[in-house]
Parts: sequence; C-alpha cells; structure tokens
Amino acid sequence: MPGVELFGDEERKEVNDVMATGILFRYNHDNERKGIWKAKELEKSIADFTGAKHCHFVSSGTAAVYAGMAACGIGLGDEVIVPPYTFLATIEAVMFAGGIPVFAEIDDTICLSPASIRKAITPKTRAIALVHMCGAIGHIEEILKICKEHDLILIEDSAQALGATYKGQHAGTFGKVGCYSFDFFKIVTSGEGGAIVTNDEQIYKNVDTFTDHGHDHIGPMRGMEQHPNVGLNFRTSELHAAVGLAQMRKLDKILIAQKNNHKKLKAVISEFPKLKFRHIPDESGDSCTFLCFFGPDETTTRQIVKALATEGVDSCAYWYDNMYHFIKNWDHIKALKSVNKLPIHESQKPQDYANLELPQSYDIVNRLISMTVKVGWTEEELDIRVEKIRKALKSVFN
Ligand SMILES: *Cc1c(COP(=O)(O)O)cnc(C)c1O
Repeated sequence: MPGVELFGDEERKEVNDVMATGILFRYNHDNERKGIWKAKELEKSIADFTGAKHCHFVSSGTAAVYAGMAACGIGLGDEVIVPPYTFLATIEAVMFAGGIPVFAEIDDTICLSPASIRKAITPKTRAIALVHMCGAIGHIEEILKICKEHDLILIEDSAQALGATYKGQHAGTFGKVGCYSFDFFKIVTSGEGGAIVTNDEQIYKNVDTFTDHGHDHIGPMRGMEQHPNVGLNFRTSELHAAVGLAQMRKLDKILIAQKNNHKKLKAVISEFPKLKFRHIPDESGDSCTFLCFFGPDETTTRQIVKALATEGVDSCAYWYDNMYHFIKNWDHIKALKSVNKLPIHESQKPQDYANLELPQSYDIVNRLISMTVKVGWTEEELDIRVEKIRKALKSVFN
C-alpha cells in the first residue's frame, strides 16, 4: 500500500485549503470557495497522467466500475464477460447494472485469457470487463481484436493498475471506459474514491450525470440544472479529492521506487528455477505494485506460503484462499444471494454459477503468490527481506 506510506504535509495542505473555505461540496458555491476546486483539479491530474481526454472522480472504485458500465448502456439482460479472479466489485457492478456476468478463464498473465473469452461469447454478449490484476496488463492487443470482431464494449477495471502501461499506453485508456480505485489499499488513495476515464465525450456526460442524480452541471445554480436522465449519488467530497490530489503528485515517485524494489525481490525468486513469474507481455509497463509468481503445484505453493510466514516475510497474498478475490470462495455470488430481488434472478443465464467449472483458473490461482512491493523500505530492510525470502525458499526446495 504505497500511497498511505507517504502521507505527509502535502495531503494536509490540500485538505486545509478546503477546510479554510468550508466548501466541502464539489459543485457550485463559486464565490465562497475562493478558487478552490479540488475534485476538478484531481480529475485534470488523472486525465493528464493517463492521457485520457476526460476523467470524472467518484466516491469509490466500485462506483466507478458500476457507473462506467451504466454509462456505456450496459443493462438488463446484457452478458458481460468477467474473470473469476478479481476483487469481487467487478462482478457486483455487472449484477447491479442489470447485466449477467459470464465467467471466462484467466491465463498465466493472471488476467482474462483471449481464447477463453472467445468461447464465452454468445449473441447476448455486450461487453468484456477486463481486470488488470495486480498492477499489470495482460493480452490487451488480442482482447481489443476480439472486441472489434464481435462489436463488444471494453470496460477496463484498472482499479489495481493506475500507472501500468502497455507499449506506453496507460491501463484504462484502451477501452470505452477505464476505472481506477483510490481506496485505502491502492497505489494512491483518497481514503475512499474512484475515477472513470474515457475519450468519448458522450460517455463522459453520461458518467457525470449518472453519478449525481442526473444533474447536467451546466450553470452556477444547482436548482436550475437540467436532468438528461435519472441517476444516483456517487459524488466525492472535496476533502477526499484533496487527499487524492496530493497523492497523484507522488505517483511518479512511487512508481520509480516500486520498480526498484520489485527488481530486488524478483532477483531472489529467480534463484529458484521451479518458480515461474506471471507472464507480462510488456514488462516495462508493469507498475510493480506486486511481484507475482507461481509455484510448481498447489502443495508446494502452500509450503512456500507457510515458509515465508515462518521467516516473517509479511504482505504475501495467497489469493486462492482469499474470500473476495477468487471465485472458489464466492458462495454468496454463486448462490446469487442479495437483500433485494435483482434483474439477474429473472434473467436467463448461460452459466450455472453453482456448478461452474474453471479448471484453468483454479490451477493458476492455486499456484499463485503475490508479494506486495512497498516504497518505504530502506536498502537495509530490503536486504533483510531478500535474505528471509531466500531462506524460506531454500527450506522448501533443498
Ligand atoms: C479495489 C478494487 C475495486 C473497487 O474499488 P473500491 O474503491 O474499493 O470500491 C474494483 N475492482 C478491483 C479489481 C479492485 O481491486
């Protein structure tokens, strides 16, 4: 969680700017706010950083994915191809938009497999919700080709991939919409928050209105605005935006530090030929928030996880057992449990969620270990860590 490691005077200064005017609301109050527009400034900084034409900042990454889907017109009965390995917000967003999640396999990029996407396409497929897991991009070129061939909308859940690129282009800017999360655990944080980027002006307007009760935000008078459509409230506050703005200014520095620290961790893993790294088609675009690698089989991988814990190597994720990142543990989603009746309960589903078979994804995730890369480690701390990892791995392989 690099962003939170670097909280300091910069975040406090931005928050204090807002507190000084007392205008915590992101719209209107043009006279009282004395030129302080943190949400707007943050949106500009995200657009500038990613190279997207438009950016809109909202209350969470989940809201960003949901609003992004809605803005693209995804609704009742639309099938959306999703990965079984993601933070489950991606799946929730499809369900609450009225769509039907259709699970395809992941491959050794730990993102959706193009071959499996092709198999999952039906006449009702409307979109692909591509998740760039753990800060890097998978087979984007081939997935874009599939979208073109089958006229599918690409939604990039880039919640974990702000700063990741493929051949120089930013995650989130390949599809119709890209979504980032600024929650407490992401590369940069606003406490809670999310961003939607798009190059399509109409989609941007849809997002802007949908996330604020349909208000079109034209003119200085909130009560006098037009409402092109209905919407909900996924607004951010100026306080959250202020923190996010200070954090965005640290992103370049974070990426450099992560890449350096990642290199050292990768070197020690490379000493063990039975371990294989996650495949990243353009490795230079890895944001390096995680180092992801595979053990030779589930049993050995579990031994490695245990050995790393014994040596005191913290922040190693074994997603196979994690309650909200892999489908194996999503009993509530497989049973479609919800507090209210949703469109999906009535929809015709091409998959039987309770008896889904995704052998390739199971075989990948049960061998996957992800190490968090921090930015605050000193050289000495990193050397100690590397030594502990080496000792743990030797205990398994020698
Ligand atoms: C974190 C995350 C989200 C949701 O973001 P929140 O800001 O926590 O709502 C969505 N998708 C993925 C892949 C994530 O990692």
